[in-house]
Amino acid sequence: MKDIQQLFPSVDGNALQREELVSYINTILSKVDELKDPSKLTLGEMPDYTEDFYNRIIKQAQIPQNGLSMEKTVEKLLDLVKGHRYVNQNYVANAAPLPNIASIIGNLVMVLVNGNNLWDVEGPAAATAEIEITSMLSKIIGYDSSISTGYTTWGGQGAVFNSLRLAIARHAPESNKTGVPKNLYCFCSELSHYSLYKSVEATGIGIDNMIRVGINDDHSMNLDDLKEKMEDVIASGGVPLYVLATMGTTDTFGIDDLAGIKRITEVLEQKHQLDPIYIHADSAMGGMYTFFNDYDFTENPLKLEEQVCTVLQDYQEKFQSINLADSMVFDFHKLGQTPYITSLFLIKDKEYLRYVDLDASETPYVGNRGYGSYHTSYTLECSRMGSAMAIYASLLAFGMEGYQELLANYIRVNIAFREKLQKQIPNVSVTNEISPITTFRFYPEASKWNEELRESVSLEEVVEINQFNDEFAEIIGVERDTIFFGNTKKQRLLKTANSSQRIPIYAHKFFTISPYSTIEEVDRYVGFLKQHMDLFMKTYEQTFV
Ligand SMILES: *Cc1c(COP(=O)(O)O)cnc(C)c1O
Repeated sequence: MKDIQQLFPSVDGNALQREELVSYINTILSKVDELKDPSKLTLGEMPDYTEDFYNRIIKQAQIPQNGLSMEKTVEKLLDLVKGHRYVNQNYVANAAPLPNIASIIGNLVMVLVNGNNLWDVEGPAAATAEIEITSMLSKIIGYDSSISTGYTTWGGQGAVFNSLRLAIARHAPESNKTGVPKNLYCFCSELSHYSLYKSVEATGIGIDNMIRVGINDDHSMNLDDLKEKMEDVIASGGVPLYVLATMGTTDTFGIDDLAGIKRITEVLEQKHQLDPIYIHADSAMGGMYTFFNDYDFTENPLKLEEQVCTVLQDYQEKFQSINLADSMVFDFHKLGQTPYITSLFLIKDKEYLRYVDLDASETPYVGNRGYGSYHTSYTLECSRMGSAMAIYASLLAFGMEGYQELLANYIRVNIAFREKLQKQIPNVSVTNEISPITTFRFYPEASKWNEELRESVSLEEVVEINQFNDEFAEIIGVERDTIFFGNTKKQRLLKTANSSQRIPIYAHKFFTISPYSTIEEVDRYVGFLKQHMDLFMKTYEQTFV
């Protein structure tokens, strides 16, 4: 057993075993640093992803008969990292975070004591951290922290699922025993994340009972359409159960009008004697902007530029009413720059958990004791990673102002990018509101975005423009090691001049997520696009003229 004990940290805190662990960590940090190159997106060389790449791995995979040395094990791990994308200034594709140092350390502390967030007796550190961040963040968004509750869960998608589970159980407490009633309906914007789609599937409500609501030009939910569709459901005997209010759509950062949604649900509840309709704010993308809810734009202590303030003030107005939602989510592993998975599901009133909590007789091994007072028997997970610790560390190290600086910079860089892009490239249009994301669309000739919006371009031409953008995405995608732009095949749906069928609009995406994506980089981003567009136009014209 002595040999096997060597594979573990010490129990007595001796320096020798500590130094050994530190030396491996040091090796890993140094080797990863050696692979970094600010002019590239990847750490070292990308592996050759031949068609049989994963097949070869499947064939040769085998657990070694005798364990490898730690040095060899570290070496093998570092092999995996080679060619990995690294979220430096060249990454402008999606909401992928670069975990900040505090969050890495927070994670490490959690791993070292390996607390189980299921029960405070088994994981006191994570339990306390979870309670503390729940209160901190409740105060930011305007939930009463003495009645709100929350827990970390499996992502923004997990938060949607958990909220739907609460909505069902609150509406039909018997459904835990008898199954989900047949006539329940959920509503979401047609640009909402597919989280709800999966959740209605998995809860048994069924996709047919998920009603997609149309959008406004700013990519927020159209409330007239919501009201009409809810009325239709009621008229045909259905029960409106749940509305998903997206606060920052995944591609375009559209923000639904939560106060407006709440007004509609209240009116309908009164008029038709309905149970309260559950509202979940899907703030996975935008939730971090609640950090500006109390920012004083007159004093402007961070001396943010006027244009940046204009956007943030608009957010302040919209996120002010997020506390009307029954629940919301903070996805720190998006704009909050922490490792996966660090998502806090926040619930306005802890009473809601009563409907989904297990009876003590169902949990004979944990919780059911005089010692320990925090047992999360209401989560869908049993054992839970204490990811609250990474969030906690991050909140402490950044503070309100640190996060405000980070979040304001995303906006600042996007404003500069939009201006430069439209100045430098004639055949482009920016197709969403100013936000941490810029969506843009290229045209074979002059931009037709305004005509497309007015639905006066022919189906054939819109399809051709989509194709044009698709091909360009492939071309710049090959060079993603230089700068990696994102793209989407459904920024939104639009009708065309000669068809009532709505078709998806393709667009490119600029998503500044790295703290290293600063205003100084904007020339390089636009230069890259311009250079490739010039080349692309040449081949395009040769092919089509
Ligand atoms: C990313 C995203 C989700 C899913 O979040 P995960 O943390 O990836 O599970 C849900 N909703 C919206 C709006 C998102 O942008």
